[in-house]
Amino acid sequence: MRELSTDILILGSGGAGLFAALHAHQAEPSLSITVAVKGLLGKCGCTRMVQGGYNVALAAGDSVERHFMDTIEGGKWLPQQELAWKLVTLAVERIRELENELGCFFDRNPDGTVHQKAFAGQSFDRTVHKGDLTGIEIVNRLAEQVWARNIGRLEEHRAVELVTTKSGDALAGVLMIDMRSGEYVMVRAKAVLLATGGGPTMYRYHTPSGDKSCDGLAMALRAGLPLRDMEMVQFHPTGLLAGAHTRMTGTVLEEGLRGAGGFLLNGTKERFMPGYDPKAERATRDLVSRAMFAEMRKGNTTPNGGLYISMAHLGPERVARDFKGMVERCADCGFDLAGGLVEVVPTAHYMMGGVEFEADCRTRLAGLFVAGEDSGGVHGANRLGGNGVANSTVFGGVAGDAMAAWVAAEGALREPDRARIDAAVARCERPFAATAARHGGLEQVREALHNLMWDKVGIMRDAAGLCAALAGLDAIETDLDAGALADHNRAFNLSWHDWLNLKSLIEVSRVIARAAAAREDSRGAHFREDFPETGPLEASAHTRARLAAGGLEITMQPVEFTRVRPGQTLLRDAA
Ligand SMILES: Cc1cc2nc3c(=O)[nH]c(=O)nc-3n(C[C@H](O)[C@H](O)[C@H](O)COP(=O)(O)OP(=O)(O)OC[C@H]3O[C@@H](n4cnc5c(N)ncnc54)[C@H](O)[C@@H]3O)c2cc1C
Repeated sequence: MRELSTDILILGSGGAGLFAALHAHQAEPSLSITVAVKGLLGKCGCTRMVQGGYNVALAAGDSVERHFMDTIEGGKWLPQQELAWKLVTLAVERIRELENELGCFFDRNPDGTVHQKAFAGQSFDRTVHKGDLTGIEIVNRLAEQVWARNIGRLEEHRAVELVTTKSGDALAGVLMIDMRSGEYVMVRAKAVLLATGGGPTMYRYHTPSGDKSCDGLAMALRAGLPLRDMEMVQFHPTGLLAGAHTRMTGTVLEEGLRGAGGFLLNGTKERFMPGYDPKAERATRDLVSRAMFAEMRKGNTTPNGGLYISMAHLGPERVARDFKGMVERCADCGFDLAGGLVEVVPTAHYMMGGVEFEADCRTRLAGLFVAGEDSGGVHGANRLGGNGVANSTVFGGVAGDAMAAWVAAEGALREPDRARIDAAVARCERPFAATAARHGGLEQVREALHNLMWDKVGIMRDAAGLCAALAGLDAIETDLDAGALADHNRAFNLSWHDWLNLKSLIEVSRVIARAAAAREDSRGAHFREDFPETGPLEASAHTRARLAAGGLEITMQPVEFTRVRPGQTLLRDAA
């Protein structure tokens, strides 16, 4: 097995990974820093897909306290408040850094100030953007800056296991697969950042990029780390519904369509949202998704089983002008967004849950840091649109600084536990060792997982469904493990990587289902039909999932209100 060593290893090249690399390099240019990524640096992950923009309190009249209160109230009082505070305060620094040091151009007002648009759940227009392709601007500039520095790259390298020392008390490095050759590579490092970006791609309809399969969360779980808020999966109301066999299905039609006054219609072309919420289509993502799901369950659906979005009443010319990108995307799939109807469906978008971490991105495993969508606690029960990319860039930068300091103070190359490496290789080799021929291929396994998670662990949940889901996940995993891969060539064997993707997704789906079963109330993205009440906010608790000797354990942990308690506010004018 090839073995490499580096001072700092960063897993993932989204906003979190790239910012961490730049900050660590700036803190100590002599460090060897390596970014390892499943795809190509700058071309993969979800930060690149960010459309709407980046939340930051910049404008006169707005404040970090206001952004903080929106984040806490939007998160239904479950966020870890010190993390949320760090998010809102450092977002101000980070957006200046993005513009003035890294070269991003964001849209501006005629007076030269940065233009900020409205997003749901916010009391102020604070979303900075570059048209509706903000993520491309951010990731292109970050990638250029990384390319310009002496930062190592392992592209198309997939992390498969966090390898600890024999005693298990510190991280020694990461076992990877070089996807181009299929070889295993052990990368030893003094500090490692987990920034693989979560990604709820286990649902029938989902938005994240195909390279995201919860690998980081599955690796953290196997390394014994606690994950919090894993039941909190955000569904975006308007995923495009363009039929079964196209990757366009599930992709997002941006929130601004509803914001501008778009209507949602059922299969008989009647508007239904006013019957569910006084804010109708402009209610928050969780409420609109739930109403849509309820409407779909009544069976009054479109030909593809979803609902319609209608914009024509706003004037086709205006829609074509204001939503050019969305109109073109719909036209590619045969829909006329400006003048006709487009089929839509709620789509799994973001995981609020993730690895528990400190405000300097340390985890409980010495040498392992986490940032971005792999981390949990910043958003609580619901992420505000625009707080996702702020989270990954803010905490990516924090992690880079903290890892450089950690390497200087405590960093050492530790001896990896060879038995753990062997066990991880055996796990990855399983589909080559199986003898039974697979009938139907991995597509069937994926479809079974997608359908099970959508039907039983999706927008509406109850005890019986969650229990059935857990049994179903066991059956799907047994099926996955039993079948052999037809192609034994390791180089760019995409079926093998699909198998590994499914393995991670099943492991993490089980955590979502177990955490959802443990939370017997309804908060934000998590809705239990058998427990529809929110419960007392003062007694708020978050779930903690941990793999112990006896299996997966879920406990409820009290939320600490370190800055503000339910019923209070940090806003002087409101108090
Ligand atoms: C369509 C879409 C639109 C969005 N719009 C917005 C928006 O307008 N505003 C907002 O705030 N947020 C938005 N988000 C959310 C936002 O994209 C995420 O919150 C954020 O970008 C996540 O950053 P990250 O660095 O954690 O992960 P990502 O940017 O997803 O990067 C993860 C990286 O990890 C790599 N990786 C994965 N597995 C492995 C592995 N096993 N080994 C090595 N590398 C691995 C991936 O290849 C990728 O490079 C949107 C998301 C989507 C999908």
